[in-house]
Amino acid sequence: MNIFEKLRDSNHEQVMFLREPVSGLKAVIAIHDTTLGPAIGGVRMWKYEGEENAVEDALKLSRAMTFKAAGAGLNFGGGQTVVLGDPRKDKSEALFRALGRFIDSFGGRYIAAEGVGTTYEDMDYIRMETRYVVGIPSSRGGSGDPSPMCAYGVVRGLEACQAFRTGSDDLSGLRVAVQGVGKVGSIIVKMLIERGAKVTIADVDEQAIRRISESFDVKVFSPEEIFDVDCDVFCPCALGGIINDSTIKRLKCSIVAGAANNQLEESRHGDLLHELGILYAPDYIINAGGLINVTDEIYGYDEKRALRKTAAIRDVLYRILVSSREEGIPTYKAADKFAMQRIEKVGRVRRSFVSS
Ligand code: NAD
Repeated sequence: MNIFEKLRDSNHEQVMFLREPVSGLKAVIAIHDTTLGPAIGGVRMWKYEGEENAVEDALKLSRAMTFKAAGAGLNFGGGQTVVLGDPRKDKSEALFRALGRFIDSFGGRYIAAEGVGTTYEDMDYIRMETRYVVGIPSSRGGSGDPSPMCAYGVVRGLEACQAFRTGSDDLSGLRVAVQGVGKVGSIIVKMLIERGAKVTIADVDEQAIRRISESFDVKVFSPEEIFDVDCDVFCPCALGGIINDSTIKRLKCSIVAGAANNQLEESRHGDLLHELGILYAPDYIINAGGLINVTDEIYGYDEKRALRKTAAIRDVLYRILVSSREEGIPTYKAADKFAMQRIEKVGRVRRSFVSS
């Protein structure tokens, strides 16, 4: 991997490699763009197959975060931490405190938040070493677990897709296949059932499946079969890259809309969905609820305000879908355009000198 070529191609500002021998910490922090404000982004802990994959993930996720913050109307740039390790075995207080000290060394240029493989308890350890972390437990005055707000945003986004397709936000009778029923997917299932949707689920974790199927009337498919389910909406809530050459041709849905980050393996898969007439809700627009929730901590967390801002995802997404139709471009391009325009315009107006 030629790292500087990569940074040039993706327009990244900075990448930091971290190592702390006592705790065994091995991590990468990528900062993509800070035009709108400090870089914010999750801490993902994952058993990566190879260090290159970890760096790739950090670059991809931090770039997505720039667009997500801009699209959600927030004054933050994009960043991401990836910790190389097994979240079930390698976690410790020392590891997250070591990470916290590195984050502190950025002096506020990067703000951490929870991500896949980490919990808000882990954020609490980071918080012991730095104030540059959000998504801390509500018992300590933070916003707590962002997953419910993320799930709410996805459901609001589904309403936008449904309104765009049918003229009504009503989700009753909608057949939704949810891939991954972890922190976010499980709440989406609950909210969809409350709204009268018919839900199918799949997960690699049998316990997660049991928790849902014991409480709700859902159909269960294997992780491999979920792509073939005849449904209206395929709702990815596991990991990224699941819209790819082998899965697209199997999809039997008219909408792809879910919480997972980086759903398109490559951007051309967004073009392919467009050609096939499958409406794709750009991931970083529809899943911004978690980010909206955690960043609200910076103003002194107010759940009602966070709910209001998250509810607005419906209208933002609807506007993007309309501009995609009017301009004849795939929805992911319309979303990028929407976010880029904000970064460019705000970046320009902030160039002038004001005495403060
Ligand atoms: P999670 O780890 O709690 O849940 C993911 C679930 O997917 C797990 O139950 C896991 O077993 C399952 N899974 C993994 N591989 C699978 C496969 N091949 N097939 C089916 N299931 C599989 O994570 P989460 O917090 O629920 O996040 C889910 C997705 O949403 C991630 O992509 C994350 O980046 C994104 N996201 C989460 C938040 C948040 O607030 N938690 C915010 C924005 C985006």
